[in-house]
Amino acid sequence: MRRMNSDKRQLPAMKLDELQALVATWKQPKFRARQILDWRNKGVLSPDAMKNISSDLRQKLKDEICCEPLKLIRRECSVDGTRKYVFALTRMRAAGKMIESVFIPEEKRGTVCISSQVGCVFDCPFCHTGTQGFEANLTAGEIIAQVLAIKADLHAEPLPDELHSDITHIVYMGMGEPMANEDAVLSSIGLLMDKDGLNISRRRITVSTSGLIPQIQRLGAVYPVNLAISLHSAIDDKRDTLVPINRKYSLQALRACLNAYSIGKQRHITLEYVLLDQTNDQDEDVQALIRFVNPERERVNLIQFNPYPGSPYAGTSKQNMKVFAQWLISKGIRATVRRSRGDDIMAACGQLKADTKADSNADTKG
Ligand code: SAH
Ligand code: SF4
Repeated sequence: MRRMNSDKRQLPAMKLDELQALVATWKQPKFRARQILDWRNKGVLSPDAMKNISSDLRQKLKDEICCEPLKLIRRECSVDGTRKYVFALTRMRAAGKMIESVFIPEEKRGTVCISSQVGCVFDCPFCHTGTQGFEANLTAGEIIAQVLAIKADLHAEPLPDELHSDITHIVYMGMGEPMANEDAVLSSIGLLMDKDGLNISRRRITVSTSGLIPQIQRLGAVYPVNLAISLHSAIDDKRDTLVPINRKYSLQALRACLNAYSIGKQRHITLEYVLLDQTNDQDEDVQALIRFVNPERERVNLIQFNPYPGSPYAGTSKQNMKVFAQWLISKGIRATVRRSRGDDIMAACGQLKADTKADSNADTKG
């Protein structure tokens, strides 16, 4: 009997032993599982494209497993090489819901920014995703499928030589709050690190969170990957508005959680701080931030506000951002100003929001 799409295991989330057990039930030799994973790890998910396996096995895969949990709807390329991908989910009950992922090439690294949810429940007032509300949690397979689809695209169409066309780093900074989809996100991290899978070191994986403390503690205990915290204010009153989860997990609780998070040598926790004009960029804000940061273990990443249609804030001027950074640096705090990438295609931080009006038939690459 054919399985319903929603019950099927998703190929991007399968481990070698699981696939071996499955192919054994189909009376196929064990090595077939490795062949299938070799294709999968290159981003080839359609059984029809797996050239060295029999047509019977291809059919079994199509019937029994969900091989392609995402459908590419659109790809947009920025003048700086950044590529934004819009995918639709395919499983029942979530079919047609859109997510976005971004590839950010630099000279020596290629970073994929992945989504963990459709929308987000937390409602930070400066974030485009937040305005969409929460729609669905992604499965581990859908999280990994973003990386695989981008891998395949980069292979088919590499970037110019001066930019990296390989995926070296993964950041959970796309749509959604990863720590609010804890099980799938933890399992996706395990899959990214899997030696028979993409084999990405935990040092190259970063989870960005608005500060869900129990979940951060569990993340640190299971997979102590790099941690980035959406801080945005070190004053409780202001953070209550800018990052509403602060009403539940205050700065004091966050402080204790960060102190306990395990980081290896030469590593640090990133505190993300989007600078909003006349809101969190004043003297009292920088003073509070200086008091909050532990310079031994943390660095501050100042982010230029990325506007979106209807956004209620304005960004701090470039000049004032520099002054703010200098204040921190003069107190021995490592502070960097994040260069905005892909903002011409609305692929920059906080600009991701699935355009639900997108033409889902337009399955061409842009
Ligand atoms: N939910 C997670 C991860 C997704 S948001 C989190 O909040 O950390 C990724 C980063 O983009 C966060 O630091 C977020 O605060 C920031 N961000 C959101 N909206 C933004 C905007 N309009 N301009 C700049 N950065 C923004
Ligand atoms: Fe959600 Fe993060 Fe956006 Fe806040 S900043 S609404 S937690 S995605």
